[in-house]
Amino acid sequence: MSQTFDFDLFTIGAGSGGVRASRIAAGYGAKVGVAEERYLGGTCVNVGCIPKKLMVYAADFSEAFEDAAGFGWSHDRSSFDWRTLVANKDREIERLNGVYERLLTGAGAQIMRHRAQLIDPHTVVVDGKRLTARYILVATGSWPTMPPISGAEIAISSNEVFHLPALPPRILIIGGGYIGVEFAGIFYGLGAQVTQVHRGPLFLRGFDDDLRAALAGEMRKRGIDLHFGTLVTRLERTAEGIVAMLSSGTRLEVDLVMCATGRHPNSAGLGMEKATVRLDRNSAIVVNEYSQTSVENIYAVGDVTNRRNLTPVAIAEGQAVADLLFGSHSRIVDHKSVPSAVFSQPPIATVGLTETEARSRYGTVEIYKSVFRPLKHTLSGRDERALMKLVVEPKSGRVIGAHMLGPDAAEIIQGLAIALKCGATKAQFDATIGIHPTAAEEFVTMREKS
Ligand code: NDP
Repeated sequence: MSQTFDFDLFTIGAGSGGVRASRIAAGYGAKVGVAEERYLGGTCVNVGCIPKKLMVYAADFSEAFEDAAGFGWSHDRSSFDWRTLVANKDREIERLNGVYERLLTGAGAQIMRHRAQLIDPHTVVVDGKRLTARYILVATGSWPTMPPISGAEIAISSNEVFHLPALPPRILIIGGGYIGVEFAGIFYGLGAQVTQVHRGPLFLRGFDDDLRAALAGEMRKRGIDLHFGTLVTRLERTAEGIVAMLSSGTRLEVDLVMCATGRHPNSAGLGMEKATVRLDRNSAIVVNEYSQTSVENIYAVGDVTNRRNLTPVAIAEGQAVADLLFGSHSRIVDHKSVPSAVFSQPPIATVGLTETEARSRYGTVEIYKSVFRPLKHTLSGRDERALMKLVVEPKSGRVIGAHMLGPDAAEIIQGLAIALKCGATKAQFDATIGIHPTAAEEFVTMREKS
């Protein structure tokens, strides 16, 4: 292979998917080149999952301090320092950048810290040099989409939020997806006054309706100001901060506006048209189940293909491409029943079909639901209810959806995702002994259909 091409595999983009594919391919003995113009580790490591989760931990402390009083703890007034959090977070991200670099170089891949552009299906130009590769992998991720609002240029996106010099006291978040909800919780937990505006009737479209409604209730109880069915029509900078006009007629004065209104595939300016790679209407690279594009030797994984835009999915796709091309075994990544979580306060997590999806697919479904006060809050006094829900297909008895709102929801649903993957039935859930006392045991003790 490597006699006729400079590389066996050339990967554009060193994010989650690109790094996995590159290092596994190199491990199989392939000669691998990787171009990355921004940061090693991509969005997840630098301006996504990892720094976000660190900030969620930071925000969670405020509730933990409040809850501690019911258990006999008293403490002097606690205070929060944004700069310390950002500096410590940056140090960890820098360490991870190094880990990613070593993962690639240790496997034998060559990293080029430049933008790469295709000029034909086998040739990329990197820093003015032409390089050829038998296979090309495009793993360039996605980028925040700003809404077409007058004054949107004074708002920030999730790209900037991790490097704010200070925590603004009054924050408006536009968008009701994963990022908007998570940052509403982060900012509120750290002490800001938060307003979140979503254009639809309820945020988190695509999640189970019971979870969506219950989370909205919990966020409102805490003091987050949620506006649904509302648009932001204009943003304007004033001497006091930023004025936002809402379609409801409300005039909001805030210090920061963050748009979390989706992300689009990073497919522009890469020479896709020169290599004749087909894009869809949303500029996502069109791929088949093996992540192969319309050009035989060009593959694409992760957000740039706009399938399930989640880090573990990109990693699985990258692994599958490396296995297919250099490991001689093909595997199709299953994009169904992918578990996911929103790290809100309390968090929600989900796997499989929502009740609405299940009803439209199967007609009749059985629903098991439990709403309860977590044990911890019997002493903390916090007015919070956990929600657990199973969706069962009655003919086979299989559990086809599991949904949770409550502490550790993501950790719990990850385990249940294995059961769903194995096709577990409600009878098998029922035959499983719980761990007592936990919230998770509720999933194996729900007997009453709702
Ligand atoms: P999402 O696609 O999840 O949500 C976008 C939100 O913005 C929706 O509420 C959408 O409304 C709204 N919206 C879109 N366009 C406009 C507009 N022009 N005006 C007003 N509102 C608008 O995107 P996010 O930015 O929250 O996150 C991007 C992706 O990142 C997610 O889809 C997810 O794949 C990934 N992610 C995953 C996380 C996790 O796993 N925990 C965390 C963070 C991100 P509507 O519903 O009406 O379309």
